[in-house]
Amino acid sequence: MNEFALIDAYFKRLSDVAGAPSTQNTYSPKADLGIGDDCALVSVPVGMQLAVSADTLVSGVHFPVNTSPFDIGYKALAVNLSDLAAMGAVPAWFTLCITLQDQSARWVEAFCEGMASVMRPHPILLIGGDTTRGPLSISVQVIGLVPSGEALTRCGAKEGDDIYVSGCIGEAAQGLALVQNTLQIEQASIREHMLERLNRPTPRVSLGLALRGVAHACIDVSDGLLADLNHILQSSDAGACLDLGSIPVAGGISLQQSIISGDDYELCFTAPVQQRDVIDLLALKLSLPIARIGRITSQHGMVDQNNHPLTPAGYTHF
Ligand code: ADP
Ligand code: MG
Repeated sequence: MNEFALIDAYFKRLSDVAGAPSTQNTYSPKADLGIGDDCALVSVPVGMQLAVSADTLVSGVHFPVNTSPFDIGYKALAVNLSDLAAMGAVPAWFTLCITLQDQSARWVEAFCEGMASVMRPHPILLIGGDTTRGPLSISVQVIGLVPSGEALTRCGAKEGDDIYVSGCIGEAAQGLALVQNTLQIEQASIREHMLERLNRPTPRVSLGLALRGVAHACIDVSDGLLADLNHILQSSDAGACLDLGSIPVAGGISLQQSIISGDDYELCFTAPVQQRDVIDLLALKLSLPIARIGRITSQHGMVDQNNHPLTPAGYTHF
């Protein structure tokens, strides 16, 4: 199949599987001009800003070479939606640049099914991209919408803010250890859960939207909790005191290991103390645990509850 046949047979379909608008997000996605011309055309609703982000997944770096095409498609889009979530933006459009080596049409079809399964709960459309040959790699750019001036950034943390993290930290790391055969887990259901968390992370879009006007700063945990929280601290010119015992860690992994391992795609955010009730309620409403794990300090650096320094280690490419 040549690239045009691939685009027509598979990628074009992804311009039509978006989820319906929700109560949180009443914006209906559409493109004025979608796949097929030199550019796509979209209109930005009055009063909204575009939130733009891109992530590349390289075979053997971001996913093990034997990862299923469904999971690769899923993760390529999910990690991008996670960036929109961290900004409090509604997903609207995405582009897909894919470099294929010798993948079959069936591979591409399964890849697209993986993408479609991430798209269905969200009002997002595929509006363009590029298809080339070479070592397998996938680059997705997402474009979201956020009311002007309301995006959650990394730079708004204030002294005295509580620090929170959603979900459970270290589960994706266990999934990766299973894939790499460095960890054995007896119980099949737990094994599957960890692999699911590695391959099919849930972007916390609803949480991100609900945090607009509540959180002061937000980031998604892709490289590791300490490393990502440290980005907030540096951007906000602040420090943090963490209560290590309150960090929700997956069973079967040490606390030390979990806070420096990545790929969980949970949200880490800060909020003023007055928002505690709002955040507790939000956790109930979303059926998503949200743990309060520390507070923002004016003194730079990160320390634990005993004032011992913490090193912001995490995954880096270089
Ligand atoms: P051009 O040569 O003008 O860049 P292409 O031949 O690369 O155009 O692509 C034709 C059309 O198909 C364009 O609208 C482009 O955005 C779209 N397209 C190409 N590859 C993909 C893809 N992987 N996913 C979605 N759309 C794609
Ligand atoms: Mg092109």
